[in-house]
This record gives sequence, C-alpha cells and structure tokens, in this order.
Amino acid sequence: MNFNDLTIQQSEILNDLKLRIDKVLDHGRYIMGPEVGELESILSDFVGSKNCITVSSGTEALLISLMGLGIRSGDEVITTPFTFVSTAEVIALLGAKPVFVDIEDDTCNINVGKIKEKINSRTKAIMPVSLFGQVSDMNEINTIAKEHNLYVIEDAAQSFGATYEKVRSCNLSDVGCTSFFPSKPLGCYGDGGAIFTNDDEIADKFRHLRIHGQNKKYSYNSIGVGGRMDTLQCAILLAKFPRFIEEITNRQKNAQIYNELFDKAGIKRIKVRENRKSVHAQYTIFLENRNKVIENLETEKIPYAIYYPKPLNSHEPYQKFCCSDCTPISNILSKQVLSLPFGPDINQFDIEKVVKAVLK
Ligand SMILES: *Cc1c(COP(=O)(O)O)cnc(C)c1O
Repeated sequence: MNFNDLTIQQSEILNDLKLRIDKVLDHGRYIMGPEVGELESILSDFVGSKNCITVSSGTEALLISLMGLGIRSGDEVITTPFTFVSTAEVIALLGAKPVFVDIEDDTCNINVGKIKEKINSRTKAIMPVSLFGQVSDMNEINTIAKEHNLYVIEDAAQSFGATYEKVRSCNLSDVGCTSFFPSKPLGCYGDGGAIFTNDDEIADKFRHLRIHGQNKKYSYNSIGVGGRMDTLQCAILLAKFPRFIEEITNRQKNAQIYNELFDKAGIKRIKVRENRKSVHAQYTIFLENRNKVIENLETEKIPYAIYYPKPLNSHEPYQKFCCSDCTPISNILSKQVLSLPFGPDINQFDIEKVVKAVLK
C-alpha cells in the first residue's frame, strides 16, 4: 500500500500525458510556451477567478503575493503555526513578522475568534491556511480584514478544488495561492504553483514580479524573482486536469468511508464544516496513544505521516516571533495527529485494512 498512490491515475491518462509532453518537445518553447497560457485560462475558469498566474511553486506563489501586495520589513502578517514551513517562511524572508494565532481543535485551521486581539497598526494581512483540504471560515476572516483594512491571502496549497458556500478555494479572498507539488490534490511532476486574484492591477504586478520585475526585455522597474512555472509542468497538468473533477468526488467518497468507520469506533477525526467541501489533501485522525498505534502500523507495513510534528513557533528560527506557550492547541494536537493512506484511487479494501490496523 502507498501513502498516496498516483499510479492508477498515471496509467489512466498515460496517452494524454505522452501526447502533451511530445507536443512540448516538438515546439521546444520550454519557458512560457503556449501550454502556460492554456493552463492559466482553464484554471481561472475552474476557480472562477479573473486571473491565474502560474509560478514555480506554492512557496513562490506565497512569496510573490506578499511582495506584490507590498508587505515589507516591519509589517506583521497573521497566520497559523500549524502548517508547512513555507507559510511563515515567506513572511519572515521579507523581513516581516509572522504573528501566530492558535488553531481550532476539530479542523486544525486558524481560530478566527483569536485574530482580532493580534491586530495592531503594523498588521498588513491575514494569511489563513486551508489545511488538509478544507478552507477556514473565510466570511469571518474577510469581515475582520475589511474592518481593519487588511489583505487576505489564502494559502490554498492543500485545498485546490475545495469549496466554501459553493465558491472555490483560491477565489475566496484578495489573493489565493496554491501548489502543484506532486502529492497535492492537483499535482504536476515537479514543482509548480499558481496565484489567483480578481484584481487586474494586482495580477499584473504578480506577472511582473514573476519575471524579475522586468517591464521590457532587459529593463527592470522593480525587484522581482525568477518564478515562472515551466511549460512541461503546465503540459502535465493539462493532461491531468480532465480527471481532476472526478478525483475530487472520489476523494470525498473515500473520506466518507473512513469517517463512518472511525465514527463507529469513537476515534476523533478532522471535522469538515457544513458550509464547506474539503478535497481531503490528507485524511487525518487524532490519537492520544499515537506512538502505540504507529508501532502497529509499522509492523503491518502501513504507511502514515505526521502533519505536523511541531508547530512552527517551536522551531528555532521561528521561536523569536511567538512563545510556544501561546499556541496550546497546536502544541497538543501536534502530538496527536496522524495522517493515513489516502487518495482518489484508494479502494475500500485498503481503507478497511488501515482502520483495522489503527483500531488494533
Ligand atoms: C505544500 C505547501 C506549501 C508549499 O508548496 P510548494 O509547492 O512545495 O512550494 C505551502 N503551504 C502549505 C500549507 C503546503 O502544504
């Protein structure tokens, strides 16, 4: 059993993949070839956003977003410590301060009720993370942001395809950033990412920063980055996209099978709120005796993962931003979370086998 099996997907779309790759080999435009624009147009339609800007990774999407919105040294950006390092890394890289707000104990997303107390005159943006495939309470976050004149940037690296009151993740705030890392819900065969926004002016800034702040060939009017997504990776996503909608449905069906089995056994799992649909980037449960369960999973050769073993403010470079006592729920849950084998193509037999091994 694989933790995240992509082999069935690949075998089903292999012809299209090869055709798409061959086409790029033929035209040879490996950077900013026609597939880049084609993908951006398909993805912006899917998300419902006016602009899609593909970039070289999810991390780069977050970085370019903050740069484009003018976040700089001395600013503060409110986010969660229970996330992949990129979220806070890009804030700190720009000399700004990541301000960590603790999480909810049933979704592991930012606790929106605790945001207001962290806002001050230096606060410029809120960056919620749509963890494990489920978006945060975006209506509440947008309301708070509007009251205090802040930007909202969704870190949607794990939630591409998810919805909140029928609106897609990445189209729920000023800016949405996603990742196409191979194991994400929509993954390419390397690094890739995208930024979405309905603001044309901001979108132009992002496009501009993506190519070193260049306005004309070898002429620069701002300091940017080398942040393009390459043509081959775009071609791969074009081959993968037609199956993606069905994969979202299958992810939700498979999560439901796990849910019913774990609910019956009284095991706590991530809750999905009623006004949201998750894409279940991970299937995650909570265990007070996690070490014991892991021992048995290893004996039975069932793969697992821990997202995340420590909140970011417990890691040395991030300790200066926030004391670890300030995020008690993140501290407790990081010792309890366990992510199990999952994906659109996992079968019921394997799900039952995993559940049995956990319960044993
Ligand atoms: C994967 C991930 C990222 C970074 O994406 P890359 O494409 O690997 O750079 C950022 N934030 C979160 C929450 C992620 O899960």
